[in-house]
Amino acid sequence: MVTTHNLGFPRIGAKRELKFALETYWKGQSSRDELKATGKQLRARHWENQAKLDFAPVGDFAFYDQVLDMSFTLGNLPERVRGFHGDRLDNYFRVARGRSAHGAEDHSACCGGVAAGEMTKWFDTNYHYIVPEFDAATNFSLDPSRLIEQLAEASAAGVKAKPVIIGPVSYLWLGKAKDDSDKLALLPRILPVYAALLDYFTAQGIEWVQIDEPVLVTELDAKWREAFVTAYDALSARRVRLLLATYFGQLKDNLEVACQLPVDGLHIDAINARDEVALVAAQLPDSAVLSVGAINGRNIWKTDLNAALEWLEPLHQTLGDRLWIAPSCSLLHTPVDLNSEQKLDAGIKSWLAFALQKLDELTVLAGALNNGRASVAGALAANAAAIESRRSSPRVHNPAVKAAIARIDAALGKRASGYPQRAEKQAAILNLPAFPTTTIGSFPQTGEIRHARSQFKAGELDAAGYKAAMEREITRSVKEQEALGLDVLVHGEAERNDMVEYFGEQLDGYAFSQFGWVQSYGSRCVKPPILFGDISRPKAMTVEWIKYAQSQTAKPMKGMLTGPVTILNWSFVRDDQPRSTSCYQLALAIREEVLDLEKAGVRVIQIDEAALREGLPLRKSQWNEYLQWAVESFRITANGVKDETQIHTHMCYSEFNDIIASIADMDADVITIETSRSDMELLDAFDHFNYPNEIGPGVYDIHSPNIPSLDHIVQLMKKAAERIPAERLWVNPDCGLKTRAWEEVIPALTNMVAAAKTLRQAV
Ligand code: GLN
Ligand code: ZN
Repeated sequence: MVTTHNLGFPRIGAKRELKFALETYWKGQSSRDELKATGKQLRARHWENQAKLDFAPVGDFAFYDQVLDMSFTLGNLPERVRGFHGDRLDNYFRVARGRSAHGAEDHSACCGGVAAGEMTKWFDTNYHYIVPEFDAATNFSLDPSRLIEQLAEASAAGVKAKPVIIGPVSYLWLGKAKDDSDKLALLPRILPVYAALLDYFTAQGIEWVQIDEPVLVTELDAKWREAFVTAYDALSARRVRLLLATYFGQLKDNLEVACQLPVDGLHIDAINARDEVALVAAQLPDSAVLSVGAINGRNIWKTDLNAALEWLEPLHQTLGDRLWIAPSCSLLHTPVDLNSEQKLDAGIKSWLAFALQKLDELTVLAGALNNGRASVAGALAANAAAIESRRSSPRVHNPAVKAAIARIDAALGKRASGYPQRAEKQAAILNLPAFPTTTIGSFPQTGEIRHARSQFKAGELDAAGYKAAMEREITRSVKEQEALGLDVLVHGEAERNDMVEYFGEQLDGYAFSQFGWVQSYGSRCVKPPILFGDISRPKAMTVEWIKYAQSQTAKPMKGMLTGPVTILNWSFVRDDQPRSTSCYQLALAIREEVLDLEKAGVRVIQIDEAALREGLPLRKSQWNEYLQWAVESFRITANGVKDETQIHTHMCYSEFNDIIASIADMDADVITIETSRSDMELLDAFDHFNYPNEIGPGVYDIHSPNIPSLDHIVQLMKKAAERIPAERLWVNPDCGLKTRAWEEVIPALTNMVAAAKTLRQAV
């Protein structure tokens, strides 16, 4: 018999119950007990949802983040919260977000505001974890209270529990040594705590523990690979069985190590590492279980079950009871329940599977493997019909789009002249001063804007009324910018709820869910649009708004678009063609918009690529391939314009050290980036690489309510001028201003414009 299990379940709740419970608690509007009760209910419900499986995960639930949970289990709290009094959960929130509940804080005087833990992306997902903090003196001590509580609940509910923990090597790898000490020196100190935890599980009668070591899919040096051997040798005497879980990629040169570790089973991601299944099956010792992640835990598509059985059946023949099946990774990265969707088009809906449906698929696969395909013939036939309907749907396949993709050649992404010639022509037209000032696109999303949008969506405001309301906002932001004395203006993006959704909604080939929420961090969720078909642009998407904005001013107005790579990276995308193909399709569609803006007389066009960097593959050896098509997609989008049209791009970071050549290759005339918080330190990349075009290093940290002073801005720009010739520098904020209030934006931009004037006097 094949064994079914799950690596983790989305904890936010089908209706985002956890989000709302957390936020209510933080506002001081509910009690800690009420919050804990919501957590308990969600865990109970999610175990019930997984009742059909042979093992359900326990310990995958977290009030904020599973890595932070692990830090608490290991007794690794940052020094600054060590002395805190009061409830454990409140301290947990203090580390997570700098504070716990408003008003309800037992110890707000002594244990109030503290620096929140640093957050960073969980591998190549859009989930963010709280980075464990270490230094040379870090010690660990076991606090199993969270797991005790959840295992007791699971046992009372009759759950076949498989505790889930993050393994010692990945835990250390994911953290940060604040004093730059060697993190691996902590391994001998952390292993006894893991051993004690495993013994505790044994005492609870637990049979299997899932120990996550996802860093095995990254490039590890010899030291880290050796750490795996040390760690698992040290834990091999424990009596509980260990299922070592890897996911998100291929093991490659870590495959041998992974297969040789003294554990009782290995889980591999058979979506990303399908080619490694046979190798691992051959190399694992005869006593070890092989768990294959046969269902994609990161997307929203139905699995082709018959195709999966084609390779699972022979594997089952070879391995027998040693074969386990599961989703490829924790289902944290998928929405909960497709059945919640009432507005999704029925055809498209029939192609999709959210977390609950993925678990149903798993049960069908197990049925077919254990009792033959005939035993689940109905389910398999229905699945085959859905797969075929998607494969052959004219809504997915648009021959005109495919033909356009086939016609792409190198000339398409190439501008007529090099930057120096273009810059001269643009300067003659735009006539900008030295250190020109601009902003990144959005202005505050005020209550009035949100009100008008929700009225429009509810049908209480007609299209003309909505348009008028947005135009009022555009006029307002244009007037403010003129009063501030900015040089290149923006329309303010009032009409955009989200920089990807706005375009997705107007492109053919996109669908939208109502409840397709995925946790991004803490209580924050995103609802990625679903890119299901060949992409085309039925009509212009932004031209009317920009034309209106331009009509309100004599200053140059920037057209404002989201680039293809960012749209791709923030969507659920097709699994039936390479990501690069979807990206090129988006590029062709946005290119048409760029050309329409140019035709409408727009002289400056910004194409945001906020998410270009986050699409980088986990392994550096695969970066080039990604960068090649990502940069080419941007170039196709941007570079069809005349020399006179100035192309800007914007990125929400400036860690360019290893990709600066690709950034330069995009050949935008101007790039604006985020640099203010790093005190321009991040411009290091520009020391070693002579970036050829213009740059606007951000001088205003828009994530903070603080107003940057004139002097501070001048200092930052002077630092920037040490690395980039002053005549190629722009002055602008780090990012868009939509989350700020006008009362903050006006004084900050006043100082920014004054700083630019000061700088001009010096040249
Ligand atoms: N143009 C967008 C804005 O200003 C850019 C947002 C982003 O980079 N994330 O809001
Ligand atoms: Zn940004």
